[in-house]
Amino acid sequence: TLDISTLKTFENAAAGHDGVLSDPSGQLFIKPCTQAEVDFYQQTLIDHPGFAELMPAFVGTLSLGAPAQVVDSTAAQEFLQRNQAQKGPQFPGPKVAAGTAIVLENLEHGFTHPNVLDLKLGSCLYDPTSTAPEKAARLDKVASETTSGSLNFRIAGMKVWNGMSFDIYDKLYGRNFNADNIKDGLATFFAGLSVGLKTDDAAGLLETIEAEVSKARHSLERLESRMYSVSLLIIYEGDSTALDALMGGVPKTPRVQEKAPTLGEVKQSEEEEEEEEDEPPAAYRVNMIDFAHATWTPGQGKDENIIAGLKNIETQMDQLISRLVD
Ligand code: ADP
Ligand code: MN
Repeated sequence: TLDISTLKTFENAAAGHDGVLSDPSGQLFIKPCTQAEVDFYQQTLIDHPGFAELMPAFVGTLSLGAPAQVVDSTAAQEFLQRNQAQKGPQFPGPKVAAGTAIVLENLEHGFTHPNVLDLKLGSCLYDPTSTAPEKAARLDKVASETTSGSLNFRIAGMKVWNGMSFDIYDKLYGRNFNADNIKDGLATFFAGLSVGLKTDDAAGLLETIEAEVSKARHSLERLESRMYSVSLLIIYEGDSTALDALMGGVPKTPRVQEKAPTLGEVKQSEEEEEEEEDEPPAAYRVNMIDFAHATWTPGQGKDENIIAGLKNIETQMDQLISRLVD
């Protein structure tokens, strides 16, 4: 079973609250959350499996705090086995808040230095049917002062590998942009593409990522939902050497083979390859996350609040691609 005492603090979030955990293998993302968010994951798997593919894989739930107990340990165990988890070092478990936590696939797992961008979607950032007027007014004010109001999305946070360490852009960073200069924020996030890749390849990868955003939008256009304060999470490989290799480039430091490998060595490397075949490393990921205030709402029509945000992200990315290939 997943031993709660081995959980460690998840240090790699682009935005959001503290108290997020991971397991020793780094494959799991464990976030204290409301029952509503757990329910949304479970309902979506059953009712909207197509949309579930845009979400991080749901592994189960944990009950945090003493007495620590794994509620859905079979799913967690199966997930870890499927991904051939190594048993990592034992950590002196960090302080965890009591309550329910959701156990998800860690979307950053497998990347060398993942660049992560959290785009908070919508101009209305709360459920108007169940939010106190003071909170509604506060969120409306932030929206009206940021690109949430004008473009239905804003940069909630990002982290970008600079070759030595991660540059962290907090939630205030994204509040300073307007509709005319938000492109500069996105360009800062995607700058790593041009470090690792030739211009055409960088533009091609941007197009591929944009196509994933379109896919999410097309999915929502066919569904009836109200998703308040959800985010689009974009991840790509920030390590320029790893990115180049993933895109089929020649490794910058080829391994020198001084003499022909022995049969044993060949067999061993074949076995290593087989193990890796399970989950090929990806150059990028695009997912929807943060469903604490999301519901399926049959009869209410499509979620224009979120769809407009995704559409505007696509438009901004188009302009970024034009700027790149100019
Ligand atoms: P909050 O309610 O605190 O905003 P989120 O679900 O938005 O929680 O998660 C906060 C941050 O954690 C996100 O900005 C993202 O960087 C990271 N994150 C969220 N879900 C995952 C995941 N499944 N794998 C990896 N990182 C994640
Ligand atoms: Mn969030």
